[in-house]
Amino acid sequence: MQFIMDLNALRFVFASVFGLLMGSFGNVCIHRLPRKESIVRPRSHCPKCNALIAWFDNIPIFSFILLKGRCRHCKERISFIYPAIEFLSASLGVLSLVKFGWGIEALLYYLFLWGLLIIIIIDVRHMIIPNALTFPGIIIGLLGAATQVLPVSFWQSFIGALVGGGLLWVVGYLYYKVTGRMGLGGGDIKLMAVNGAFLGVDLTILTLFISSLLGAIVGVYLILIRKKSSKYAIPFGPYIAAGGAISLFFGYELLKIYGGVSLLP
Ligand SMILES: [Zn+2]
Repeated sequence: MQFIMDLNALRFVFASVFGLLMGSFGNVCIHRLPRKESIVRPRSHCPKCNALIAWFDNIPIFSFILLKGRCRHCKERISFIYPAIEFLSASLGVLSLVKFGWGIEALLYYLFLWGLLIIIIIDVRHMIIPNALTFPGIIIGLLGAATQVLPVSFWQSFIGALVGGGLLWVVGYLYYKVTGRMGLGGGDIKLMAVNGAFLGVDLTILTLFISSLLGAIVGVYLILIRKKSSKYAIPFGPYIAAGGAISLFFGYELLKIYGGVSLLP
């Protein structure tokens, strides 16, 4: 009994530390992917004074606290977003372990959630969703379903990716025809395909519904309360990402409320 408890504790520590390191890597992606820079080289340096960041100044969360949020060399403020991403990433690691147990399934769902987190930040900042995140996402989701690591059939996953991407393409096309403006980008369509590959077609349609609802609520809030123009551009990616995460954790419970419809075996 003692041994089992210790093993569980070790798994939680592993999930937290792995999440922290992935959060640190996520910060590199957030900074470099939109600028089309390599995520492998060169080593991290201060964006202000260009000084290389030593390993002991690059420890997730702890270095930020020890350095009091400033560069060791030029004392420039380090954005609070970096430790926040590391913390959120570690939380997703623990959540994945709690929800899916110890194994490859939890690891794949963790990578899915990690990607959604990184995409939210990049899309809000730059209004783009990098292919370097969506293309591997689609492939990992399809492989996870094909090998039965994920609890969705390959057809759920494959049709999910097609239907998710396709439906969003249709929505974007209609929006363009009606308003004359591009409301959805190719990145949104590919992100919806990632959701489809990981979640299957049933939860993908739910994801589309949840993200549209979230987008509508925030859109109305911005126009009515914040007095923004209806032409005020907001990226749709974060809503898809939030919808996907909600569907992953609560999707089947939400579908059961509506009688548990399934489109595919
Ligand atoms: Zn500096």
